[in-house]
Amino acid sequence: MLPNDDIVYLKGVGPSKAKVLAAELGIHTCGDLLEYFPFRHIDRSQQSTIASLQDENQYVVLRGTVSNMQTVSTGRYRERLTVDFNDGTGTLQLVWFQGTKWVREKLKPGVKYIIMGKPSVFNGQWQMTHPELEADTAADSSRQPYLPVYTTTEKMKQHGLGTRAMARLTETLTASLGGIEETLPKEIIERYRLLGRREALIAIHYPDSLQQLDAARTRLKFEELFFMQLDYQWAHSERQQHSAGRIFATVGDHFNRFYSEKIPFPLTGAQKRVIKEIREDMRSGHQMNRLLQGDVGSGKTLVALMCMLLAVDNGSQACLMAPTEILATQHYNTFLSMLDGLGLNVELLIGSVRPADKRQIKQRIASGETHIVIGTHALIEDNVSFRDLGLVVIDEQHRFGVEQRSKLWAKATPPPHVLVMTATPIPRTLAMTVYGDLDCSVIDELPPGRQPVRTYHRTEPNRPKVFAFLKQQIDAGRQVYVVYPLIHESDKMDLKDLIDGLEMVQSYFPRPQYHVSMLHGGLTADEKAFEMDRFKRGLTHIMVATTVIEVGVDVPNATVMVIENAEHFGLSQLHQLRGRVGRGSGQSYCILMTKDQLGYSSQERIRTMCSTTDGFLIAEADLRLRGPGDMQGLQQSGMLDLKIASIVDDEPLVAAARDEVRDLLATDPTLAAYPRLQDYIRHSKNKMLWGKIS
Ligand code: ADP
Ligand code: MG
Repeated sequence: MLPNDDIVYLKGVGPSKAKVLAAELGIHTCGDLLEYFPFRHIDRSQQSTIASLQDENQYVVLRGTVSNMQTVSTGRYRERLTVDFNDGTGTLQLVWFQGTKWVREKLKPGVKYIIMGKPSVFNGQWQMTHPELEADTAADSSRQPYLPVYTTTEKMKQHGLGTRAMARLTETLTASLGGIEETLPKEIIERYRLLGRREALIAIHYPDSLQQLDAARTRLKFEELFFMQLDYQWAHSERQQHSAGRIFATVGDHFNRFYSEKIPFPLTGAQKRVIKEIREDMRSGHQMNRLLQGDVGSGKTLVALMCMLLAVDNGSQACLMAPTEILATQHYNTFLSMLDGLGLNVELLIGSVRPADKRQIKQRIASGETHIVIGTHALIEDNVSFRDLGLVVIDEQHRFGVEQRSKLWAKATPPPHVLVMTATPIPRTLAMTVYGDLDCSVIDELPPGRQPVRTYHRTEPNRPKVFAFLKQQIDAGRQVYVVYPLIHESDKMDLKDLIDGLEMVQSYFPRPQYHVSMLHGGLTADEKAFEMDRFKRGLTHIMVATTVIEVGVDVPNATVMVIENAEHFGLSQLHQLRGRVGRGSGQSYCILMTKDQLGYSSQERIRTMCSTTDGFLIAEADLRLRGPGDMQGLQQSGMLDLKIASIVDDEPLVAAARDEVRDLLATDPTLAAYPRLQDYIRHSKNKMLWGKIS
């Protein structure tokens, strides 16, 4: 059989099974089946017996017969099916909650079965829930030392495609396989002593030894990571070669005057370095597409401001896009006060501006009268046009989709330089993969005098103590946030939580001595601005809020962040929220309130938060707990749909693949010596999307 052959022609498949394979697993060809890798193998020399079972949750294979089938109704349309399974050494109970009808019809007393799964002890007896189950026929006389185990669905099982049946198909296929060609360059195979592609594809299903299985996995992982890197790095070099950028050659008046007269504090070393990197980019003649990472509170805004001044000094306009109106307004106010007296026109363009005013603002932007615009999504509307947009800064990049961002590109020709800023650190492996060789600057230094926020985990019984502590802080002149999770901003239930919370806080902190205010997404922009302003000026002591304050909010006098129902927040969100305190020189605190009993991953999140304030460590933990598919901003991209490699566990391979691709493109930029790789690139789906990652 050849990889491109329709799976329907593989012996043992036929039209109806082919349909199920296509529908359930997207397997259409023999090649697809070949790349449907087993998730584990069974060592046949290690076959278990019921009498010798010791550990729960160890995957085992047993052979035996069934008896004593019983069905118990557990509700409308629901039932539980139990069957005794005996292998001559003992009895184990098999249990099904789903597909019971099918199992009942299929199981016959007296027939020998082979079952696979993880046993557990229940009421002092061994049982196994939803085992893989096959008739133990003579056809299963495979001579393979290791049997592959495949993930299968209920529907597949019902059509005779359980894991053993899948194994028979792959066995037939690998035995008659032709037409597998090498895809990796020869010198790379030699350098890393990788298995050939054909050998690896067979051994991943049917290894002769565990060493060979390991080698097969390594080879296939490397291949997968190599081609992923090729996608990204190719896109990156395309962009470098073909995207002309405006040249900002001079450091002008505004920049210099700001630097010598206005800047409120000396820049940190990291801020200086990053500004230099950005300057180099903006005068290189290529369009800048740079990611600026800096932990919460590291001072990205100031960097953005200074880069915008560079653009303005070179005759261009600059804009900054923020994900929320609160944040845009805050930036606007910061800019106004910092730029006071420099004679620059700064505008705020957000959705809630009055239509008449909006029209005028847009006119001023279009005429070039405006130098700097701060805004939200409102900036990317089609009817916003610039006279000459030279620099786009996007704050809290993960809050925007790729498409939204790329709309800003279209607002000028040649496209503006783009700087995206994020406080959600990208774990090293991710940075190496998804972000490929995207130009990246890091502010890895906090302004001087900051003390790490102290973080504590507390539960309801501790509340009086927690509130007493808040009182103490407030009486010492500090301010406090109390944040509730809002799953849906408009959800009435959630709002009720928030209002209950507000009332509780108010009862501990009565007027007129204390002022408590509330901030949530349901308020109008004016109301939000009003509350923020009062808090910022110290007129309210406690801000009870939803996650609308999550990103960017900057009130240095606030020193305590209480996060209610903290178990409902993800790690990066907790980190963002905590970043709202610790912004001044006073010692700050974060208190994570949760219920008593926590599940594993909630516990891990809370533990991580209490043990570190390092955004990179937190991002790594987040990646581990959630898997890359859930990382912010990557969900929709499908970028990390890896079949076999894991960017969490295979970091060394990720790095090796990255380096190889980099060297390859450096010595042979068009890949002239590698027609296969050229061919791959021509057909690759990924490159357009990520060429414009910005
Ligand atoms: P983020 O990187 O989280 O966006 P901000 O830009 O909001 O951080 O800065 C956090 C706080 O640190 C602000 O109050 C800002 O004025 C202050 N800040 C920024 N740069 C410096 C510096 N070099 N020295 C002291 N304070 C700074
Ligand atoms: Mg910020």
